[in-house]
Amino acid sequence: MRLSRYFLPVLKETPAEAQIVSHRLMLRAGMIKQASAGIYSWLPLGFKVLRRVEQIVHEEQIRAGHLPMLMPTIQSADLWRESGRYDAYGAEMLRITDRHERDMLFTPTAEELITDIFRAHVTSYRDLPLTMYQIQWKFRDEIRPRFGVMRGREFLMKDGYNFDLTKEDALHAYNRHLVSYLRTYERMGLQAIPMRADSGPIGGDDTHEFLVLAETGESEVFYDSEITDLRFGDREIDYDDHAQCRAVLDEFTSRYARTDETHDPAIFEQIPEERRRVARGIEVGQIFYFGTKYSEPMGAVVTDGEGNRVPVHMGSHGIGVSRLVGAIIEACHDENGIVWPEGVTPFHAGIVNLKQGDVSCDAACEGLYKALTAAGLEPLYDDREERAGAKFATMDLIGLPWRITVGPRGLGNGVVELTSRKTGESEEMSPEAAVDRIVAIYSGAA
Ligand code: ATP
Ligand code: MG
Repeated sequence: MRLSRYFLPVLKETPAEAQIVSHRLMLRAGMIKQASAGIYSWLPLGFKVLRRVEQIVHEEQIRAGHLPMLMPTIQSADLWRESGRYDAYGAEMLRITDRHERDMLFTPTAEELITDIFRAHVTSYRDLPLTMYQIQWKFRDEIRPRFGVMRGREFLMKDGYNFDLTKEDALHAYNRHLVSYLRTYERMGLQAIPMRADSGPIGGDDTHEFLVLAETGESEVFYDSEITDLRFGDREIDYDDHAQCRAVLDEFTSRYARTDETHDPAIFEQIPEERRRVARGIEVGQIFYFGTKYSEPMGAVVTDGEGNRVPVHMGSHGIGVSRLVGAIIEACHDENGIVWPEGVTPFHAGIVNLKQGDVSCDAACEGLYKALTAAGLEPLYDDREERAGAKFATMDLIGLPWRITVGPRGLGNGVVELTSRKTGESEEMSPEAAVDRIVAIYSGAA
């Protein structure tokens, strides 16, 4: 993409309405624009990051054997009356009446609708296990929408639902989700810690929230510092192997890590004092096992091996896709702007032409642009007639991990400059070597 043809409405001033750094930077970098309270348009740069985050979520869900699908945002209230949640959900549910005076709602979550799909089509244990998920917009009429996309009213969520014959199988589905979530967040450059949590209106016995540590997080968290040493890494996992998935759950949940809702000071105080941490975190996901809470009232039953009709065991599992964009920025920024992890960056590298209109600079930039594009990468070429300082400031603000700077002096010696956004370190090399280096980085070879 050439910056001269892009829509990147960067703001020079810090917007007064934004209280936290991710919200400020998303506005300043022209990623989002508020449409009304807690409701945002995603401008081209923001949308690119949202799509990258979404893509990682899809890839990891599919890797775990979960089936992508899509349910509508507007649902009939009738199903929610069957489960008893139409009244229970309260003021957070946006209720709509259509022209025929039918009660509709904008989905805050989709347990009822997926259960309705299941009961219409699945009658035998032979069709289990089954896990389906969607990435779809949700609406919750939050009393205090704030912090930009972190607590919106309309937000993008991945919600997945497992159907299993037995509690044991459903707990395997729970563990499988935990493993897939660990992989998902790590690919985004985040450490998200699974913490014992409270089940809230979704209900259930077993639940963990995934929290990214950040001073601006809305949740108070208590944990044993040893947990922050754990990494999932690139280990191979067989998602059908119950013992393997269970072992990962044990590894990542054996140390104390809880939100304030489930915090138990008596247990916490048994941790050696130097390892006790009280901090704040951003909830970027949650997994639940809730057994037959929906399958019983809604009649989602199957015949088991002996011919008995039994309600299925279920769970639901959410990832805050749009919130993650903010959470990543909270975790990855400095005083000059965003510092995207390579896994979610909107463009792989920036090209800065220090002397637009100079024949050799222009040609070198075009060559870099073509070579990176041919390698399957997306460069952002700042081809505007702007001062070098302004170009650098824009690149720093939007946070691309790598910048190639092309100027007449360097080109005279056959070199360009490759700069890491994260460390600020620059290295001179030939244009070909810069392309090779960037290609190697994104193919995981460097
Ligand atoms: P919270 O406690 O933050 O209100 P929740 O526990 O009600 O969230 P879940 O039902 O667990 O939310 O939804 C799954 C995920 O969706 C959450 O972990 C969070 O990342 C995201 N999410 C929930 N509410 C919002 C919101 N208002 N804006 C953006 N993302 C949200
Ligand atoms: Mg939650």
